Formats: sequence, C-alpha cells, structure tokens
Amino acid sequence: MPPTAPGPGILALDFGGTKLSAALTGGEAPVHWQALLRARSEAEARVNLQTMLDLAYRLLEGRHPAAIGVSFGGPVNFVAGRVICSHHVSGWEDVPLRDLLQSEFDAPVVVENDGNIAALGEWRFGAGQGCDSLLYVTVSTGVGGGWVLNGHIFRGADGLAGEIGHTVIQPDGPVCTCGKRGCVESLASGPYLARQARERLSQSPHSGRQLREMAHQEVATITAETVAQAAEAGDELARQVLGTAANALGRGIGAALALLNPRRVVVGGGVSKSGAFYWRCLRETVQGHVLPGVTVDILPAALGDDAPLWGAVALAEAELISSVDSDTKG
Ligand SMILES: [Zn+2]
Repeated sequence: MPPTAPGPGILALDFGGTKLSAALTGGEAPVHWQALLRARSEAEARVNLQTMLDLAYRLLEGRHPAAIGVSFGGPVNFVAGRVICSHHVSGWEDVPLRDLLQSEFDAPVVVENDGNIAALGEWRFGAGQGCDSLLYVTVSTGVGGGWVLNGHIFRGADGLAGEIGHTVIQPDGPVCTCGKRGCVESLASGPYLARQARERLSQSPHSGRQLREMAHQEVATITAETVAQAAEAGDELARQVLGTAANALGRGIGAALALLNPRRVVVGGGVSKSGAFYWRCLRETVQGHVLPGVTVDILPAALGDDAPLWGAVALAEAELISSVDSDTKG
C-alpha cells in the first residue's frame, strides 16, 4: 500500500553528530519534501540549536508548521521530550528540546533518538514498508538501531531498545565506546574496519596490494570505504577485514532475531554500502546463527542518510492524529 501523504507543513529536524538537516513536507501524494536544508554541525549545542532554528525559519517563510518531528543523535527521554546527552556535541545534557521548540513555534513537537526514528522512517516510507515487525540497524561511526513492532516504535523500559551495537559477541574483544569488551560496535563499525586494515598492513608489508594502491600507498589515509572498494576488487586482506566486521554484525543480528523474530531487518549507514561481498558475508552469518524455521529478509536501507528525517515526519504525523483523536474524544 503506498503511503498516504502527511498533512501539509510537517517540519522535520535532524540533529546529527556531523550535520543538521531540516525539511518541510508538501501536502500532496506522493510524499515529498517541499524543501530541505542542511548545515554542518558544530561542537556546541547552543550553536547547533540556533543554526537549526535559522534553517527552520528559512523553510517556513512565515508559515506555521502543523507539527514538528525531531530526530536527535543521542539518548532521549521520549516521554519527557528531553535530550539526555550527545556523544558528539557538548552542552546537550538534559535539554528540554520539545518544550523549547513548542514555545518557539507554537506547534506539537515530538523528539526521538535517531536509531528509533530512522527505524520508523524506513518502516513507513522505505525498505520496511508493508511488514509488521522490523529491526533497523545502522552501521557507520557507531552501530545503532531501533525496533518497529506492529507499527509502533518499541522503546523498551529505558528507551534503549534496539541498541544492537552493544550486544557483546566476543567477551575478550576490543574495548567498546561503552566500556565493555567485544560489542558488535567495537568489531563492525567503520573506524574499527579502517584501524584493522591499517594494523594488518603494517604487520605484513607484502599483503594487501590492491588496498595499498587504492590508498596511494598512504596506509594512514585508509578508511572503511577504501577497505570496501579493495574488497570488491578482490583484495584478500581487505576481504578478511571486511568479512570479520560483517560476521560480527551478523552474529549480533542473529541474537536479536532469536529473541524477537522480526519479519525484516533493514541495514543502513555508510558501512552498509560496502558492496556484494559484505552483504554475502552478512547474510550467510545471520543464516548460520538463527533457528531453523526463522525466515527473515535482510535488506539495505532505502532512505540513506535521510531515514531520521522521514521518521520525524512519520512520528509528527502520528502525533497530529493522536491529538485530533483526543480533541474529538475530549
Ligand atoms: Zn559497547
């Protein structure tokens, strides 16, 4: 079923770790952005908030938004509408973002963390359309995710459901950003991939010929993207490194499937664009780690970096519908 158009003038805001995005929806099907603006994220919360307000006012051109959906790159208390903190930008500790935006724009506002809201975006407008249960996983600098069950975000008791990046799969593995060892994130993220490749190359000077050529012999410049390109070109060392990362992610996803048996898993983020070899390793590992009888589609994300913005539209739309419902009942 194609998505129905959201009401006109839903303002979607995405506070990412490295960029800020704001979009305004048009009111006609198919759903589209009337306008989309981006800016670079700075290291300070106050600056980012002001930049985002500037983007929003430029989009609105004097109009009043029907509702505002906000994605935030960090933990959020959804019920209270408060940002708990950001792991990238200082000054976001315990900020009442919903109330700030509500009084600024005099419109209903919902604030959700980026993993949960991107899951909703993919479910409503992207690769998760038409299925009743979805695990969304994003693999880039970190590994995050979210659940949509029966059309609703499943947040868990503390809003931390879907944090697949911190499933421990190798207890003696590398130390993770969370302090534990051997989390999926510490073995499958982009920075891990790049570091592994650089270490392996310096340990064995005659290995990874194609990988070295792609990095113009500058091993220090190798990124996860370079590793993926070399793996696609058949470089053995790059394939080992990329395969290990895909395997770690696949085991994490396998554990999640054993618990909740979703219909579909959608994988996004920069590392998910690593090519056919990566996807083959990932799918094979997942299949090897689920119970016989589990049928699951594992698909690449369809909305790319804009999944949180689309999720913000879906969440704001749901907020509008529930406020209309409660008005009718009241
Ligand atoms: Zn961790």
